[in-house]
Amino acid sequence: MSSHNPCLTCGACCAHFRVSFFWGECQSAGGSVPDDQVILITPHRVAMRGTEAKPSRCTALLGDVGQGTRCTLYEQRSSTCREFEASWVNGEHQPQCDAARHAHGLPPLLPTMEPELSPDRVA
Ligand code: SF4
Ligand code: SF4
Repeated sequence: MSSHNPCLTCGACCAHFRVSFFWGECQSAGGSVPDDQVILITPHRVAMRGTEAKPSRCTALLGDVGQGTRCTLYEQRSSTCREFEASWVNGEHQPQCDAARHAHGLPPLLPTMEPELSPDRVA
């Protein structure tokens, strides 16, 4: 697998979906996510600020989608963020990744192929 991280030049999912999770992941409840970065959407769930309505864009996302982006809360991000996977990075297709990229005019990621070693290239 390539060590290239496609998310560094994407960020589409952080600017497409409502990113919600149990309020217990917030710092005031003993979790990691700063309280001032979320908004209460139900009695027990919060969403990252900026993603609670369309057009969605998490306020913790820096940069330009499809060019270069960075999560300013990377170490403190929620389980929802941690569990969202890019297509094929772990060998599996992730339709949600494709959908977010499509919404921003980006093509789906493609499976990466390890180059096969022909016998004359094996040391
Ligand atoms: S849409 Fe996919 S490639 Fe883009 S940042 Fe999200 S997980 Fe990464
Ligand atoms: S907290 Fe970071 S990873 Fe999660 S949606 Fe916002 S920018 Fe994306």
